[in-house]
Amino acid sequence: MIREISIGISMAVVVSMLIMGYDVTPFLFLAVAAGALYYFAGMRGLINIKNFETGSASEHRDFSFDDIGGQESAIKELKEALDFIKNHCGIKHLGIRPLKGILLTGPPGTGKTLMAKAAASYTEAAFVAASGSEFIEMYAGVGAQRVRKLFQSAREIATRQKKDNALVFIDEIEILGGKRGKATSHLEYDQTLNQLLVEMDGLKVDDKVRVLLVAATNRDDMLDPALLRPGRFDRRVKVDLPDKEGRLEILKLHTRNKPLAEDVRLEIIAKDTFGFSGAHLESLANEAAILAMRDGATEICQHHFSESIDKVMMGGKLDKRPSETEMRRVAVHESGHALLSEIVRRGSVSTLTVTPRGDALGYMRQTPDDDTYLYTKDFLENQIAIMLAGSVAEEIILGNRSTGSSGDFEQAMRTADTMLQSGMTELGVICPDILPQELKHKTITGIVKEQEERVRKYIIESKIIITQTVEILLEKEKISGERFREIMRGQLN
Ligand code: ATP
Repeated sequence: MIREISIGISMAVVVSMLIMGYDVTPFLFLAVAAGALYYFAGMRGLINIKNFETGSASEHRDFSFDDIGGQESAIKELKEALDFIKNHCGIKHLGIRPLKGILLTGPPGTGKTLMAKAAASYTEAAFVAASGSEFIEMYAGVGAQRVRKLFQSAREIATRQKKDNALVFIDEIEILGGKRGKATSHLEYDQTLNQLLVEMDGLKVDDKVRVLLVAATNRDDMLDPALLRPGRFDRRVKVDLPDKEGRLEILKLHTRNKPLAEDVRLEIIAKDTFGFSGAHLESLANEAAILAMRDGATEICQHHFSESIDKVMMGGKLDKRPSETEMRRVAVHESGHALLSEIVRRGSVSTLTVTPRGDALGYMRQTPDDDTYLYTKDFLENQIAIMLAGSVAEEIILGNRSTGSSGDFEQAMRTADTMLQSGMTELGVICPDILPQELKHKTITGIVKEQEERVRKYIIESKIIITQTVEILLEKEKISGERFREIMRGQLN
């Protein structure tokens, strides 16, 4: 933006000087020189890509599919595609056209870059990587030139390394391969994508260096259809969030080089980390080791892992300390959540704490029952009840509610809306687009009110459990699910 304004102002100055009769030749000369300098500075990106790639080519050398956990089916699919490349004589003999591109799709941090590096090792290919954003420049032609240069670098690096194959990896391909005509400001995006298509079309099975393009994205819906047509990205491999077994495998990989104490149960950590990506799990193992070091321990214990889950989920501990009264309110609120969680699903509370972390002043973490992908009506109603229990506990124990529950209400409303859209209400199956707003509001608030009544009943009955938990929480700041269940058993007997 500043660049454009400066160019505009300079042009206005030159035109005014011309009108006033000054000789502007020296200024024009200077402008051309500055423009040329700027252009070459922009082109320097090409050299950066190349240098960077030379570095990464050596980095991946020992990387294999064995270093990737929890992606068995994605790896199997990818390997099947890569076997085509390994067996290039066979495919040439049968007249099969070469595989030009493999698209890896999936959420961030699931191991797409790792898969591309492992694919390069598997096919004994030179590895060259770049990110989609590196190709986008203000000036027409620079991006296209960078694409050309990237493929050229791949061939040169492979030749230098005496390899027959090169693997070009482009991360965030949606930035350069987005639907054409969408970037209205200039045609630079379109030219860059066109160049990529040209490069892909030019890949041949009898090239001296056979190049394979592997791209990754978490927005494949944004990609231009021309990229996705057969003959371009011929294979699409989904790299999803790992399931429980997958999480365990990844944890094992990332604790290989760490001293673990006897009490460490990675299965329990894998169970507690539903929704974590490989990158989350790597960070979790690293954070646990840091905590152990801070404790002066020589081995990482289960409680280090447990605390790291909280850190990765909620963010670091905050220095701010709420007042005594606020701490009490937070303790009541979280104990309310925990009570309902245990009532609707025994054994579900993992930790309960009043330590401020991230945006929360305290929190109750649940142990997922099992990896769940489909939810029943009962399950959703119970979730709403758990979300409402914090504010109902505040109302019953402390006599009024606070602003700390707005996030819970939002979540409860969203869950009730999911129930409405899934045909779980008395309205049956509905078309959300033509459902009157008033009726929608009435149905959603009806679900929430019904659960609120149910929660109120439970909390009045078990008020003593909450008050006792609050005192322990205020003293210890954190209690485990096991301890909370002991308190419940003690009071209910
Ligand atoms: P993005 O979409 O954000 O680019 P990505 O899917 O390419 O992410 P990677 O860069 O491959 O993710 O992974 C980041 C880090 O997370 C890796 O360096 C590794 O430590 C860890 N990781 C991610 N997935 C796995 C996995 N399946 N197995 C082992 N480690 C993993």
